[in-house]
Amino acid sequence: MLNIRTVAVIGSGTMGAGIAEVAASHGHQVLIYDISSDAISRAIDGIRQRLASRVTRGKLSADAGSQILARLVPVTDIDALSAADLIIEAASERLEVKKALFAQLAEICPPQTVLTSNTSSISVTAIAADVHHPERVAGLHFFNPAPVMKLVEVVSGLATSAEVADALCELALNWGKQPVRCQSTPGFIVNRVARPFYSEAWRALEEQVAPPAVIDAALREGGGFPMGPLELTDMIGQDVNFAVTCSVFNAFWQERRFLPSLMQQELVLAGRLGKKSGKGVYDWQGDKPDVQWVESVNDSYSPMRVEKRRDGVTEIDDVYLVETQGETAQALALRLNGPVVVVDRIERDVAVIAAAASN
Ligand code: NAD
Repeated sequence: MLNIRTVAVIGSGTMGAGIAEVAASHGHQVLIYDISSDAISRAIDGIRQRLASRVTRGKLSADAGSQILARLVPVTDIDALSAADLIIEAASERLEVKKALFAQLAEICPPQTVLTSNTSSISVTAIAADVHHPERVAGLHFFNPAPVMKLVEVVSGLATSAEVADALCELALNWGKQPVRCQSTPGFIVNRVARPFYSEAWRALEEQVAPPAVIDAALREGGGFPMGPLELTDMIGQDVNFAVTCSVFNAFWQERRFLPSLMQQELVLAGRLGKKSGKGVYDWQGDKPDVQWVESVNDSYSPMRVEKRRDGVTEIDDVYLVETQGETAQALALRLNGPVVVVDRIERDVAVIAAAASN
């Protein structure tokens, strides 16, 4: 097993900051590197605030909080990352950015340094292609917010050694996470299966089925998801979510079911990136979207009637939302005598809308 003491995180945005917090909370010294020194300061400020909030709520002692903060080391010279035993790259979701970083890391770091990427969709094999000793390169894919979400995908490229994948699984377990091993294919498991969750919501919005708040509320209140698909894209970052969709779409030979949304592209082009820029599908104040904005641009907005019925059936206005039980949507629509949407819940917050039909 590998001896991982010092961890380095490259990119200190949404994910890098969260991953640095997780590693420092588990006793590692963490080098935080970003091309923007402002981003490093913002990341450390954010971690400081989250730790302070845990101290106030009695979840963490003030002493433990100070020790975690003291383990964070801001780094502005990439050469300093040679001191790390494990590097977790969480920079932009672009192959050329990641390839350039990994080629540079291979020059700087000794051959035993484990090099991982938090990529959501890009081929680990491609990232490792120009690296000496590509057997030490793997995907280590955390979910947002990293300190909260349990799942970590440990992704093997063509050259990744079993020893490295094993060691990363063990590390994830030690960090209180639930690792799942997979091979490098576009989107891996979760981002592949979750694509239709986002893309059908964009299509529904483009077709003016309902305002964003109604689409989100339907999936949240009716489908039992912690967040609706559109507010989730705001939380992920419209630029990141759009880049992942484009990456999966292109990697699957432009398969139409992964087609990116022009409406989402408009948000990205406008710099309306969601929670991190303060405005996306919604206006954001702190951790919650301001749904008033949606109401003000759509006067016809009215709250839905949501009624839970037995056997996994929820009635939303005149539509039945049914958790999949093996019966087709068409059969259910006949039996319930109304339009039906069938939802397949895979994880707590991942789903595929499997089918829809009306009577
Ligand atoms: P982000 O935009 O919040 O942050 C990216 C950071 O990387 C920025 O601070 C930027 O300055 C920095 N950066 C860009 N190029 C760099 C370089 N060459 N060297 C060093 N730093 C560089 O992005 P994010 O949401 O944290 O996503 C980062 C990675 O994590 C992406 O690969 C993304 O697909 C993946 N990811 C994102 C989420 C999510 O929900 N946002 C979830 C899982 C995985």
